[in-house]
Amino acid sequence: MTVGFSRDSSYLDVINEPASPGSVLALIRSGEANTRNELAERLGVARSTVVQRLSVLSSAGLVRLAGDAQSSGGRPASVFAFDESAAVVVVGDLGQTGCHLAVCDLGARPLVELTASLTIDQGPEVVLGWVKDRFGELLGEVGRSWRSVLGVGLGLPGPVDFETGRPVSPPAMPGWDGIDVGSLFTDVTAAPVLVDNDARIMAVGEHRAARRSDRNMIFVKIGSGIGAGLIADGQILRGERGAAGDIGHIVVDPDAEEVCRCGNVGCLDAVAGGWAIAHRMGEVAPTPPDVVRLAREGHPEATGQVRRSGRLVGAAIANAVNLLNPTSVVIGGKLAEADEQVFAAVREVVYRQATPVASRHLEIALTELGHMAGVIGAAHLVIDHVLAPERVGELLEQRTA
Ligand SMILES: [Zn+2]
Repeated sequence: MTVGFSRDSSYLDVINEPASPGSVLALIRSGEANTRNELAERLGVARSTVVQRLSVLSSAGLVRLAGDAQSSGGRPASVFAFDESAAVVVVGDLGQTGCHLAVCDLGARPLVELTASLTIDQGPEVVLGWVKDRFGELLGEVGRSWRSVLGVGLGLPGPVDFETGRPVSPPAMPGWDGIDVGSLFTDVTAAPVLVDNDARIMAVGEHRAARRSDRNMIFVKIGSGIGAGLIADGQILRGERGAAGDIGHIVVDPDAEEVCRCGNVGCLDAVAGGWAIAHRMGEVAPTPPDVVRLAREGHPEATGQVRRSGRLVGAAIANAVNLLNPTSVVIGGKLAEADEQVFAAVREVVYRQATPVASRHLEIALTELGHMAGVIGAAHLVIDHVLAPERVGELLEQRTA
């Protein structure tokens, strides 16, 4: 039996058990084995065992027959595929001033989506109450209900302890510190609720959908606030308490007058974020969305300010590049999308300031997924969680009950 070296030990433990339906599903989902013989060989079990597992998975609607494999003589082998339409996940990318919600199939493809203004500082009850109502409407639009939801995924604009689903001292989210976000969904669903940092779900989305081969990647979101998601050796890096990638609170100008919402002086967020620009522009652009609108229109002060942000973000990224030596740096967020010169400024400063050895083969790119990166990343996190081999047994019990 051969098992890829990239798998983690929990996967190996499960796959070494007598072939569970979960391990059969994992091999089918990844495309590593799709016929009865391939599955039996990979799992080291009798073909009859595989036939039984496939029957259970088919009854639950998770696996379907997808045709016949090319054969070099003899009977063609039936090919089994994961049925991505079996259920849905609902996901939201909540920023400081806007949100993007979607219902996705089990292939992380959005079936329906919604973008709206929503200020996070209204607190968890108001914000999540509104989000739940919109999720209910979106589910209705695709003919689904909460009953068909396997999981909920949310990105929030601050540090989040992924294990507990609680924000950890988020500087710009009054009322959210330590809140058990999942507990606010128990009135609509018993499905798991996963919560992570917004830049981190964008990093996962970009990595899984567009940059699977990049072993090490830094995704930087330049929006109302500035944050980063780190992919290290192919895995998302969260840190000890969920604060990894909090690039917005790297001090870039110790002599700055701006006091950051975290209490320090001269943080990247406080001198280069959308809120900081809006603060400096006053009446002309009172909120980050105003800054973005004016920059898009070519307003001289707004474009000057966002390009300055690009240079400051570039300096912080250069330090991160020296520290992490990534394959790629991907830039996203509304400020970066407002004016192409922001990206040009980031690029120029990173290549100039990062060490030659770290920057020589470094690729710096704009996000390919754009504003979709967050919801697609959140969907991947939820789907990987609920379909992990050790959880599929429980899922099968629910679906065949
Ligand atoms: Zn700060």
